[in-house]
Amino acid sequence: KQEEWAKLKDEPSFTKDGEQVELAANIGTPEDVEGVLNNGGEGVGLYRTEFLYMGKSELPSEDEQFDAYKTVLEKMKGKPVVVRTLDVGGDKEISYLDLPKELNPFLGYRAIRFCLENEHVFRPQLRALLRASAYGNLKIMFPMIATIEEFRQAKALLMEEKDSLKNDGIEVSDDIEIGIMVEIPSTAVIAKQFAKEVDFFSIGTNDLIQYTMAADRMNEQVSYLYQPYNPAILNLINTVIEAAHAEDKWVGMCGEMAGDSIAIPLLVGLGLDEFSMSATSILPARTQLLSLNKKELVKAKEQFLAMSTSEEVVAFVKEITE
Ligand code: PEP
Ligand code: MG
Repeated sequence: KQEEWAKLKDEPSFTKDGEQVELAANIGTPEDVEGVLNNGGEGVGLYRTEFLYMGKSELPSEDEQFDAYKTVLEKMKGKPVVVRTLDVGGDKEISYLDLPKELNPFLGYRAIRFCLENEHVFRPQLRALLRASAYGNLKIMFPMIATIEEFRQAKALLMEEKDSLKNDGIEVSDDIEIGIMVEIPSTAVIAKQFAKEVDFFSIGTNDLIQYTMAADRMNEQVSYLYQPYNPAILNLINTVIEAAHAEDKWVGMCGEMAGDSIAIPLLVGLGLDEFSMSATSILPARTQLLSLNKKELVKAKEQFLAMSTSEEVVAFVKEITE
């Protein structure tokens, strides 16, 4: 098996019937890039920037962030790199930010909600990203977007910083795609409206499942409700992909589900464009894709979207991929 995988390291990712998708990796630090390339990653689909802020006593400076982003972009040599802006709160604590203790941290003051109100934190990150954009293929994505206004506000701040850098004679790429994480049901439901304004979506199923099923992703007692293959989740994913494709935008997924061998046939059938997973899952996924017929899976879509339970969906996937 290892040998079969190794042969595919520098190959593109195709289904059996010749349909191409992109297999990318999730990273947390610039040091992770080596693993991405060694495992045949075609890009970085999610760079979680929280690690730059964690385990220290103060905010990372703009220059420190610039160095990290530039390093990742340079090492990836023109391959796409999707950097997510700070996703603090929920399960990701940063001590010196002095966030209030909350009864429901996952439903509270976090990510873009915090960043939009703390421009002294957000603007330096945006500037660092914009400056780094000159060194590779950067795409910027905002986490935990629940409303169109949040996206517009975040994008406006980004554009302000871009103009200001350019006025100072600093090089900034004009080709930076700006997208959002789709991890809150409200955003998935009106993906059609969002698709007119964003350049891409990346579906964050880790949170999308928790919010849709109302089941804390950290709570063992309700883990039986954490169901990636529940038709409710699949229908939301379908809504997002259809909305994006109607506007000629691409859709990725950077939650755990993207690298899951039961989910992959379903996601191919739904038309997902980019799968971002832990680096070690990439070659197994590329191997699996070669056994899948996309046209058949697309035809099967109406069938599995109409199913009633997660169990039925799993049985169906097993049957059609045998
Ligand atoms: C997600 O929510 O699916 C995701 C990729 O983000 P994180 O796991 O960092 O919340
Ligand atoms: Mg998330």
